[in-house]
Amino acid sequence: MLRLPARPLSREDVRSREVQQLIELMRETMYAAPGVGLAAPQVGEPLSLVVIEDRAESMAHLSAEERVSRGRAPIPFHVLVNPVLTVVDGTPASFFEGCLSLSGFAGVVARASSVRVDALDHHGDPTSRTGVGWYARILQHETDHVNGTLYIDRMETRSFTSVENQARFSVPRPRT
Ligand code: ZN
Repeated sequence: MLRLPARPLSREDVRSREVQQLIELMRETMYAAPGVGLAAPQVGEPLSLVVIEDRAESMAHLSAEERVSRGRAPIPFHVLVNPVLTVVDGTPASFFEGCLSLSGFAGVVARASSVRVDALDHHGDPTSRTGVGWYARILQHETDHVNGTLYIDRMETRSFTSVENQARFSVPRPRT
């Protein structure tokens, strides 16, 4: 499931009871993990649908300096259906990243500093989001998921580590 391109959803699909229930399930799963993003293939549904929320609590372990270097700021809950990514600023930013579907591990991934995602929202209406810093990273990580790509495909392989070991030498990273 994680390696298959996900199926796009129509406006009517998004408004269906099944998809609205799936959105709620994904929201709860993301909170329980806890994570800052989740794609439908991660819960066994091959659909092009992601949920994202980066709460203040999720970054409480970071110093003010670390938040600034990562461009980390709270992002309210939102849904992106059929996300299509466009790079706005390709300047690479490299940080450790993890994934709820590969729990226990982390690797350094160079991500574009700013991206735009065109998608449908939770009502099935067109929406466009531009992200910088950590939010840009989350958008890239989640859009990758619906295309069957995982962070391990993009990471610097020599940085791959267990979370346990990584925590000894760096700050904990959010899971998406
Ligand atoms: Zn992930």
